Amino acid sequence: MALIVKKFGGSSVASTEKILNVAKRVLSEKQPGDRIVMVISAMGDTTDDLIALAGGITKNPYQYAREMDMLLTTGEQVSIALLSMAFQELGQPAVSITGAMAGMQTNSAHTKGRITEITPDRVKRELADGKIVVVAGFQGIDPNGDPVTLGRGGSDTSAVALAGALKADSCEIFTDVEGVYSADPRIVPDARKMKEITYHEMLEMARLGAGVMQPRSVEMGEYFKIPIHVRSTFTNKTGTIIREDYTMEDKDFVIRGVAHDAKVAKIAVLGIPNTPGIAHEIFSALADANIDVDMIVQSIRNIEKNVTDMVFTVASDDLGQAKQVVDKVADKLNAIAVLIEEDVAKVSIVGAGMLGSPGIAARMFGALSTAAINIDIISTSEISISCLVKSAQLKEAVNAIHEEFFPKQA
Ligand code: ASP
Ligand code: MG
Repeated sequence: MALIVKKFGGSSVASTEKILNVAKRVLSEKQPGDRIVMVISAMGDTTDDLIALAGGITKNPYQYAREMDMLLTTGEQVSIALLSMAFQELGQPAVSITGAMAGMQTNSAHTKGRITEITPDRVKRELADGKIVVVAGFQGIDPNGDPVTLGRGGSDTSAVALAGALKADSCEIFTDVEGVYSADPRIVPDARKMKEITYHEMLEMARLGAGVMQPRSVEMGEYFKIPIHVRSTFTNKTGTIIREDYTMEDKDFVIRGVAHDAKVAKIAVLGIPNTPGIAHEIFSALADANIDVDMIVQSIRNIEKNVTDMVFTVASDDLGQAKQVVDKVADKLNAIAVLIEEDVAKVSIVGAGMLGSPGIAARMFGALSTAAINIDIISTSEISISCLVKSAQLKEAVNAIHEEFFPKQA
């Protein structure tokens, strides 16, 4: 008699055949009395296709953020309807509901909404009626009644948040890999599957680009203390459990994993005054436009002491909008130039254990140097170190660093 939230991503529901398979699989695992809430992504590459469609109208679709949300929320509406039909076709009562109907309330930050409150009364009623409730992931409703999406990969967040609000026994995230790996197995063939990882480390891995989980979903898990089980759509094997702490002495590695992010762009604002308030001017303009800035470097010019350069990175998806904002500020500051580099990518190592282990950074830089890979920008957090490299060398960089910390077993 468990209440379980199960999330299936786009690749798991990419065709009607796959949707039927998801329904069959869920019913085959269902124990009598289990109450099941499904949270579903849009079919396959639907979201990308919808974004491309908007690209036929405008160069920068995200400037029309509300309309993007109206467009993107249709993707999930298709998949939930089909999955609910699939359950009913197999004799299982089911009902599909949108994020709004599920009581998923958000702020008005279109295309990157944050959940403010969840009132899943409708979900509870339908469960009590013996139905499987199929909820549209990635979407909620703002105080104006407008649809808002939660950022790419947002269905994970929908699922974990809903599990928290329903006080579910567990939240299972089904995906096309078998769990969380020490690096992306598509790039590093001998990457290792982890039995467990802490919210804290997973959050850092996800924030730094590990595609398995949307970072905010991990925050939600930590907030609600809901264990998250990341597992494969295609096998019954246990995957990786994300939880508060390790239950066993699974602490052999100082570094838990190598994450990477190819969707990074670098912006350099050259020749700006080296006076108080300049950084604030640039970054508050970006913050007002809701753009996350990642690595930041301010140059030290020894010759011209009154002039400086500001270099930073943003997500590739934000580049168009960031450029508009930065161009304006640069004009105002009489900057010499704004340079954009899109062929950059970020590789990072993550592990809570690095706190008490000197020399980890040196080993990472050593691995890159041996592979003759140049480091453009370095940034660190308490439990991670990141390097910006050329996109063309990303794969090699990830492998070199992984080999340093997780050497192939002979
Ligand atoms: N369909 C949305 C996306 O592709 C949300 C999700 O899949 O989690 O980003
Ligand atoms: Mg890039």
